[in-house]
Amino acid sequence: MQYDKASCRMVIRLWDSQRNQWHIKEVIVLGKPRTGPSDKYLKVHDAFVVPDKNGDFCSKTYADEELDAVHTFVVARITIDLWEKALAQSICWAFPGPLMIRLNEPIVEAKYFEDQSTIAFGKAGKMQRFTCRSIDIVAHETTHAILTTLFSSTTLNKNLENRAFTESICDISSIIVKNKLSGNVFDSKNTDFTKANYLSEFALGYSDTKDDNFGIRSALEKLNVAARWSTPYSKSSFLTNKFYHKFIQLLLVGNESMDTSLDKLFSEIGHILLVKNKIPIIYQQLLGYFEN
Ligand SMILES: [Zn+2]
Repeated sequence: MQYDKASCRMVIRLWDSQRNQWHIKEVIVLGKPRTGPSDKYLKVHDAFVVPDKNGDFCSKTYADEELDAVHTFVVARITIDLWEKALAQSICWAFPGPLMIRLNEPIVEAKYFEDQSTIAFGKAGKMQRFTCRSIDIVAHETTHAILTTLFSSTTLNKNLENRAFTESICDISSIIVKNKLSGNVFDSKNTDFTKANYLSEFALGYSDTKDDNFGIRSALEKLNVAARWSTPYSKSSFLTNKFYHKFIQLLLVGNESMDTSLDKLFSEIGHILLVKNKIPIIYQQLLGYFEN
């Protein structure tokens, strides 16, 4: 692996479903985050993990809290990097200063609080798992913040359609981030690409553990918040489903790798979003692209 001055090594947690335990993976992150970790984009609240002499955050002896801080920072940061690439422009927050990451919040499962410039993560499910350890959930919440740099939150929350659009883009983004970091969005042995149609099925390979099925949608179901959100989410799954079919098409017909197919899709999504049309127009354009 090549490292240059403007990058560093950091660690993420990945679920090993074979051994039923977490394992640690090193990833390369652009830039040199400071103690926290923190940089111009992100800051983990109340965390003080210090980089080593090379500027890396990859100690094998991190305590759980330190590992959570580094892991969540990396996943959010990779999400930002991927969007900057797809949009071919820098992400400039709609608020001053970095986006705050709060961990172990007692009152939330996972949420973007625009008024506090914060993404917050608590615990979810019967097992009371830390949501910050789920790549898809962190990427999803980070994408909420990214979308408010492209559209105002008034626009994003204007009506059911816009909220459904937002949720779908956040889900699609988290699928792409998850694939980048774990290379394991789908379990090809257990998922029939040609038959799985909806995000609930899609979530089979989109979760940190088979047993616990910790994908974002199943996490929501377990929390019984599905009813509260059912309408935007059931609407959002329509676009995500179309995305899924386009992805399968590229994968099966185009004979391309999962990574190449997702990169291609994501840059096209970025291109369509960047035109900054009204959301219903973007929605139609995305549908058109996914259906072709
Ligand atoms: Zn959401």
